[in-house]
Amino acid sequence: HLAVNEIHANYGKMAVLHGISFDVDRGEVVSLVGPSGSGKSTVLRALVGLTPVTSGSVEVDGTCIDYSAARAVKAARDRMAIVFQQYNLFQNMNVLRNVALAPTKVKGRKRKEVEEEAMELLALVGMDHKAHAYPDELSGGQQQRVAIARALALKPEILLLDEVTSALDPELVNEVLDAIRRLAGEGMTMLLVSHEMAFVREVSSKVVFMDQGKLVESGPPSQIFDNPDSDRARDFFGKVL
Ligand code: ATP
Ligand code: MG
Repeated sequence: HLAVNEIHANYGKMAVLHGISFDVDRGEVVSLVGPSGSGKSTVLRALVGLTPVTSGSVEVDGTCIDYSAARAVKAARDRMAIVFQQYNLFQNMNVLRNVALAPTKVKGRKRKEVEEEAMELLALVGMDHKAHAYPDELSGGQQQRVAIARALALKPEILLLDEVTSALDPELVNEVLDAIRRLAGEGMTMLLVSHEMAFVREVSSKVVFMDQGKLVESGPPSQIFDNPDSDRARDFFGKVL
């Protein structure tokens, strides 16, 4: 369970998040939507300590994360894995090594055992048949699926996905969305940012609509998409749906 309480975040002197609160329950998929620049990526970055949280609190399963303590942030990053639009795989390692690297290096676990788990994760995202290929031999969609498997290798409690399909050619988007669907079906807790509104609607239990660094409204997808309370959400969905 992730509880975000009134968080504020800045880039330098500029305030970007003005008190955002929401919860993600175990096994739930929550999506952040809203106009460009509304602060969706900043929320995800703040959660993993990449953008400073200036006030408010974040709790994972009841434990408050202290963003001023490097060790606490590191621990938080083990529990919340993030995947970005750019997949950034290690080019000099094959797919299996990419996925197995962190658990062997960071956790010091046995390579054979970690590689067995890595193969299971690759199967989950439909990439086990490419375990021995190198990133430059894969399509963008395939690389992104490997990046998701790599993020899962440290067994995070929550997976954060920031527009993981928006750098992909249209015909590759679906294979990545399928992989995320499968994870949702396995009960993975996820917080995602996506412009794929049909997908957001299908996969989310809750949608959070943001504008200008504020949470405008949140609720089940049917309510937020079809019957929003705010003019801002109505206006936004009028343009994107
Ligand atoms: P998009 O849909 O375009 O990805 P977003 O909702 O993810 O937008 P953010 O990237 O969180 O928006 O940006 C929120 C605000 O913070 C914007 O005003 C943006 O200009 C600003 N911002 C984002 N990154 C930085 C940065 N590295 N330095 C300074 N300002 C930034
Ligand atoms: Mg963004």
